[in-house]
Amino acid sequence: MMDRRKFLASAGLGLMAAAAPISIDAATRKARRARTAAKTAGGSKKLKLTFFPYELKLRHAFNLARFSRTTTPDVQVKLEYDGYVGYGEASMPPYLGETVESVTTFLNSLDLGQFTDPFRIEDILTYVDQKAPNNRAAKASVDIALHDLLGKIMGQPWYKIWGLDPGKAPVTSFTIGIDTEEVVRQKVEEARPFKLIKVKMGLDNDQETVEIIREMMPDIPICVDCNQGWKDKEHALEMCHWLKERNCLFVEQPFDKQWIDETAWLRERSPLPIIADEAFQRLPDIVRFKGVYDGINIKLMKSTGLHEAYKMVTLARALDMKVMIGCMTETSCAVTAAANLSPLVDFADLDGNLLIANDRFNGMTVENGKITLHDIPGLGITPIPGK
Ligand code: MG
Repeated sequence: MMDRRKFLASAGLGLMAAAAPISIDAATRKARRARTAAKTAGGSKKLKLTFFPYELKLRHAFNLARFSRTTTPDVQVKLEYDGYVGYGEASMPPYLGETVESVTTFLNSLDLGQFTDPFRIEDILTYVDQKAPNNRAAKASVDIALHDLLGKIMGQPWYKIWGLDPGKAPVTSFTIGIDTEEVVRQKVEEARPFKLIKVKMGLDNDQETVEIIREMMPDIPICVDCNQGWKDKEHALEMCHWLKERNCLFVEQPFDKQWIDETAWLRERSPLPIIADEAFQRLPDIVRFKGVYDGINIKLMKSTGLHEAYKMVTLARALDMKVMIGCMTETSCAVTAAANLSPLVDFADLDGNLLIANDRFNGMTVENGKITLHDIPGLGITPIPGK
């Protein structure tokens, strides 16, 4: 009888064989080679979790409507089983309420050694989720590492295990924060390889930033993220019309997350879709958005990782909503994890790794503005030597 691991490995191979005209034998050999390459000798058949704090250094100060900062606290996670190593991470922008201390306290409270079968994803992640409320980024770090580990054991990248066509990965936006004209011009230069620019709004110079982009790159579509910054619904509606004329695709989180009635009012009148970000975290939050928002921006640090993020995509589609996948400032570990889901979504905003100066991984790349997934088992990341 075939055991569960072999069954899942061969199921993954079946998908791969359907996608490319190679024989099962060749695919089996390739997966076996990939699994062998990912494995070291002498590993324990119990899950082992280790982690350490890692401060992300931002290449530019990051200015939003409500905050400005030059670093992001982060915890890097390793999950080992039978000689395989999965990597994960928790990134903690201050407004989400988690800290290095809260994440390490949460991770220290887990006893993952009780699990001898890493394929029990439901059991393992339910245990992690029920350990304490909140702690979403801490939970995401375990989920991401578990996915990396399992993909390496199966010898397949996750987009293949999910049956997704990497060719359907969308273009990803490059973010331009709220800044002086000089910095905005410099960032528009950096954005030239991209096919979509995300503009942060919510302060007085909103229109100036868009005018600079339109002057430097007249044809590139833009999207706008207000980070709850707009304070007046009539002004917001005027801005939506103004932006529509300037090739804007959607507006993200225009108002305070508590302004449900005002957001529904704007959504009814706006010529642009209105996308929720700060207004939600977990799966059940999405149900109440019908009629309030046109779409959701999923981030792994809110959703507690990939397992729930996949369910969010399914629920949002059932509610006829648009789906976007975003990130925090993160290394290529969490960004590439999210990129594996991107063939399922309408928009991607996965540039968090490009905003930091001390990445620890090579992962997905952006080629010609488009997310490019590589055929590497697990999340598709490799540690950068010496980092
Ligand atoms: Mg946002």
